[in-house]
Amino acid sequence: MTDLLWLRQDLRLHDQPALIAAAHSGAVIPVYVLDDEAPGAWKIGEAQRWWLHHSLRALAASLEKKGSRLILRRGRAAEALPALVDEAGAERVHAVRHYEPWWRHAEAALGDRLCLYDGNHLTRIEDVTTGGGAPYRIYSSFWKGLQPHLPPGKPLAAPRTIPAPETWPKSDSLADWTLLPTAPDWSGGFDWTPGEAEALRKIKQLALDGYEERRNLPSEEGTSRLSPHLHFGEVSPRTVWHATGGDDITFRKELAWRDFTDGVVLALPDYADANGRDRYDKLPWRSGTAAQRDLRAWQRGRTGYPIVDAGMRQLWQSGWMHNRVRMITASFLVKHLLIDWREGERWFWDCLVDADYGNNAVNWQWIAGTGVDANMFSRIMAPIRQSEKFAAGDYIRHWVPELKHLPDAAIHDPDAAGCRPGDYPAMLIGHREARERALAAGKKVR
Ligand code: FAD
Repeated sequence: MTDLLWLRQDLRLHDQPALIAAAHSGAVIPVYVLDDEAPGAWKIGEAQRWWLHHSLRALAASLEKKGSRLILRRGRAAEALPALVDEAGAERVHAVRHYEPWWRHAEAALGDRLCLYDGNHLTRIEDVTTGGGAPYRIYSSFWKGLQPHLPPGKPLAAPRTIPAPETWPKSDSLADWTLLPTAPDWSGGFDWTPGEAEALRKIKQLALDGYEERRNLPSEEGTSRLSPHLHFGEVSPRTVWHATGGDDITFRKELAWRDFTDGVVLALPDYADANGRDRYDKLPWRSGTAAQRDLRAWQRGRTGYPIVDAGMRQLWQSGWMHNRVRMITASFLVKHLLIDWREGERWFWDCLVDADYGNNAVNWQWIAGTGVDANMFSRIMAPIRQSEKFAAGDYIRHWVPELKHLPDAAIHDPDAAGCRPGDYPAMLIGHREARERALAAGKKVR
């Protein structure tokens, strides 16, 4: 008997329950389908295509070591998979469960040939509900609701060998997919090694001492940088959980955010496009030439706010941004520039190597104050105060070289210190003026 193993955001061999089940039942054809059609506007972004190329290459090499192969197909998964099932004379398709709406549509096309396994979350998120059976909308309540399901099960070992079919179906060539950037190549600053081996190496070396405070300091390497590995499923959250100790509770709580955000998009599949609270549809976002110019300045890291510019340049150059700075830059776009959160969400989607449908949408709506949680639009972060509080001086000096000679006393607000260099832009808008404009816009919604 031959079965397909449908790989999506679970590009690993260890703790891969779909692979283990498929390998137990007979010959296995591992397949990855590049579906740029079904997700529509949410097709894989540019930075992630770079990651995906390297991750698939690493996975193919690992499969070969186990006597197997990786078959690549391009097109609508809902059509490509049933076609491959027929072509290979396969019985079933084994896959790990995911919650992005386009995956769920594709799954429906496979009917009862599809066997789904839980493996990319700490628990089955459909099981974490309020007493009334509704999904949680607030993270702290979700965390409480998750407790009876913790700790997650122990990770499963990778199979020793993977039975191969008598004949292999044809595969696309990875190079033909041109996932890597062509001229200009903007990936020169990507200091990442995609793939399961690197994810497992990082976990072995995970140093979470002082995580509670250090995770907020952009100048330090105080977080795990596992997010792209987790997004592509090069490592399972169960493996990460069990690699940490019980005193790393703050870290484990962050890890559980992934389960929470997928619970939100399971309940509200278009959460990346629609305000969680529809009264915010009335919010008078800025548009037109001046707003476009400001959006561009934000994307390029030329707003005149050093912490915002450092974050946006880190994102563009490295494909990642520190979490505290994601919050500051997102709040700045939405509140200071009064630009629709969906513009920022899209930019992050294209630039982040860890861009994730649930995590990105839920965090953007949380910052914007438009979401299903209790956060308010009127909550406005003060970027300069945040920069000082979280000692971002070295971080700014690294990412904004025009300011690298400035001392701590001047780096957060060179204008106020009277030492803004000529090649660094003036602030797009003052903090007080921006705050008043945002609060006035927020009042129109009420
Ligand atoms: P660590 O602090 O080491 O945390 C461990 C893991 O927990 C992370 O790898 C991640 O998988 C998870 N995690 C931590 N914080 C969050 C969070 N707030 N929400 C969801 N999961 C979390 N994260 C993404 O993975 N993809 C995104 O597209 C994304 N977009 C974001 C957009 C905005 C506006 C904001 C404010 C945050 C966003 N985040 C996103 C969450 C967070 O910034 C990143 O997960 C984190 O910075 C990744 O770094 P790390 O792996 O070092 O995190």
